[in-house]
Amino acid sequence: MQKIVIIGGGLSGTLLAINLLRNNDYKPSDITVIETNSSKSLGQAYSTEEHHHLLNVAAHKMSAFQDNSNHFTNWLSGNQYPFHDQTYVPRKIYRRYIQDLLKQELERPSQKGKYTFIHDTAIDIAAGEQIILLASGRRISFDKVVLALGNYQATSLQLPDNTYQDHPGYFPSAWTPSLFRNLPADKRIFIIGTGLTMVDTVLSLQAQQHTGTITALSTHGFLPLSHQPAMPYQLHGEDFSKVCTLLEALNIVNRHLKKARKQHIAWHAVIDAVRPYMQQIWINLPDKEKKKFMEHLRHVWGVARHRMPPECAQIIHQQLAQQKLALMAGRIKSIRLNADGAFDLVYQERGTRQQYTMTADIIINCMGPESNYTKIQDPLIVHLLAKGMIQPDALRLGINCTPEGIVLDNQGKQSPFLFTLGPPAKGILWEITSVPEIRVAAASLAELISSKKDTYAY
Ligand SMILES: Cc1cc2nc3c(=O)[nH]c(=O)nc-3n(C[C@H](O)[C@H](O)[C@H](O)COP(=O)(O)OP(=O)(O)OC[C@H]3O[C@@H](n4cnc5c(N)ncnc54)[C@H](O)[C@@H]3O)c2cc1C
Repeated sequence: MQKIVIIGGGLSGTLLAINLLRNNDYKPSDITVIETNSSKSLGQAYSTEEHHHLLNVAAHKMSAFQDNSNHFTNWLSGNQYPFHDQTYVPRKIYRRYIQDLLKQELERPSQKGKYTFIHDTAIDIAAGEQIILLASGRRISFDKVVLALGNYQATSLQLPDNTYQDHPGYFPSAWTPSLFRNLPADKRIFIIGTGLTMVDTVLSLQAQQHTGTITALSTHGFLPLSHQPAMPYQLHGEDFSKVCTLLEALNIVNRHLKKARKQHIAWHAVIDAVRPYMQQIWINLPDKEKKKFMEHLRHVWGVARHRMPPECAQIIHQQLAQQKLALMAGRIKSIRLNADGAFDLVYQERGTRQQYTMTADIIINCMGPESNYTKIQDPLIVHLLAKGMIQPDALRLGINCTPEGIVLDNQGKQSPFLFTLGPPAKGILWEITSVPEIRVAAASLAELISSKKDTYAY
């Protein structure tokens, strides 16, 4: 059996393992998953135990398998979980679904594959010896390695004085387990970031009856939009394969937005219809055009595409109306500790030179994940970069790889044994960080590395 080691036991790594185990046409694999956290966690997104942390994609779009779109909803029915088409299921339920799939595969009587979970951290790869080194000192041999490393924690804001980061009231990540434990209800909270992580944070604070003010700031101050029940829209016969500028892509999208408006179909449906083409559009765009997108359109695409469930939106809008939550657009200029042990934040309002000061007891960093691998201090990344086994992509959104997930070394050469899946491939595919795309990538990577037809020969 070929030894496939998957580094990262989040959704991507686990879905890949499931795909490798479930297809009898593949060579049986001896799969090892190495994961820093326990086998119960399933990565950052799904390890939450909080019932109000919902999927931000409706249940009927969350099947683990693209070729069986009812798989998740059938599982929900089979487990007596009430749902309808527009149900946004708690993420902890989705974790149970994925873990159940893995269990079912492992218990299947005709199963020929082998699966081992190692609770440890991979810190280096010795390519010549075909060995992965773990933090505990263990050495794991491999034939193929898949980097399913997910997202890295957001880096803290670098300001002229960064001593604020050492204060116990500063939380570098919203996913800090101790964050909401014993937090006095009246604390003034300042959140850096206004995206979906901020939404989750506000929901958690609301669930524990937080009474203090909450202020959230980002450069644009955009709040994710809410999902709406919308009639689906079809991009009949649209050909994105020849699109090679951002303007061409935008013209097509605008044409469909106008057409949808005439048919009284909401714009949400057009964005959802464009999304499956995003990888193709992105791959065809030259780097110059991708950079333009990052500069001018990334935030707009982000709020339109990463929408929140209506029940979450309702709570957020209530909090805004009751002035418990304030959203601001601007740039933080400085954060200093004052004589009372609180933070004084100076920020410049967007579009003006006006600077304001406000005071907060707690600061929570809800900025997006760090994707520039040259800034990531994780030992595995530091070692792989130093050896030239990986290199950042041109946009610094992840690592360089082929669209299929074969890692490219610092000479641009395809690795004979190293693959990747999920967020590390964001620079190459753009849309690859959520289930609808990850499930496709997991199925095709399983085929690429395990097919009996030897589609990947080296
Ligand atoms: C809060 C949140 C909510 C989301 N909600 C949705 C949703 O509703 N619908 C949707 O489609 N998508 C959603 N997503 C997006 C998507 O599903 C996730 O990003 C997805 O979980 C990515 O899975 P992953 O396995 O690639 O990464 P992760 O879940 O981050 O897992 C990577 C794992 O790798 C491990 N790891 C990293 N380095 C090492 C190492 N050196 N050694 C050992 N282990 C290592 C980490 O510990 C981690 O567990 C959400 C994302 C977030 C963050």
